[in-house]
Amino acid sequence: MSRVALVTGGSRGIGAAIAKSLKDKGYTVAASYAGNDEAAARFTDETGIKTYKWDVADYAASKEGIAKVEADLGPIEIVVANAGITRDAPFHKMTPEQWQQVIDTNLTGVFNTIHPVWPGMRERKFGRVVVISSVNGQKGQFAQVNYAATKAGDIGIVRSLAQEGARAGITANAVCPGYIATEMVMAVPEKVRESIIAQIPAGRLGEPEEIARCVAFLVSDDAGFINGSTISANGAQFFG
Ligand code: NDP
Repeated sequence: MSRVALVTGGSRGIGAAIAKSLKDKGYTVAASYAGNDEAAARFTDETGIKTYKWDVADYAASKEGIAKVEADLGPIEIVVANAGITRDAPFHKMTPEQWQQVIDTNLTGVFNTIHPVWPGMRERKFGRVVVISSVNGQKGQFAQVNYAATKAGDIGIVRSLAQEGARAGITANAVCPGYIATEMVMAVPEKVRESIIAQIPAGRLGEPEEIARCVAFLVSDDAGFINGSTISANGAQFFG
């Protein structure tokens, strides 16, 4: 039977590319989303991948959603914590609400996603955890104190989980994308986007599929000894 993979925020952008790539490789895939029902329905129509709605920032909702996925598809052996948001502002203008929303979704959301599946992975002596961090968690970024803090935190999470899970056959790794052509980046004003591209030696944004291929490798049997690592995929923008 094929392994079951959960991709949070798998209905759009990078998460959708990851979900499709894992399905193409023969995994049974579930994609979660927050509230954009139309995008999720369209994604399921196009791909046949089941989508599930819950807020990753809510522990009880995450536990319930994950239990539903497991009841439908079987035990989750692969989890990709991808769901994330930005609420950018220079630090002197950043509100406590902007800080908290990003912490709740991008950092606590990763805890809420992995914690419910971790005991099953330990019992079955197999698991693959991948967290989608960011180049801006490695190097920091103007107007992203909140976001950079969470994405740096993701790296601390996988390095710690790697040590806890290694003997139980569980790996935990992070992928740090550079700027990727998704709605998150296309929402940035064009002038800012142009200045971002000018700082990327590759001279272009990355494609979601380029991140999906990193994830597909990390969850494969071939990557069993890669644990606690960070893969940077950023067109030579930063060497982390
Ligand atoms: P998108 O904004 O394109 O998609 C975000 C996805 O996450 C959607 O499926 C969305 O669901 C879901 N989501 C958002 N908030 C929640 C929540 N609270 N609970 C559940 N699901 C949620 O994002 P990207 O594809 O651009 O980004 C994906 C990940 O990659 C993020 O963690 C981001 O930080 C990271 N990243 C992105 C980069 C980029 O250049 N795009 C660069 C580096 C890292 P819904 O459709 O319902 O809103």
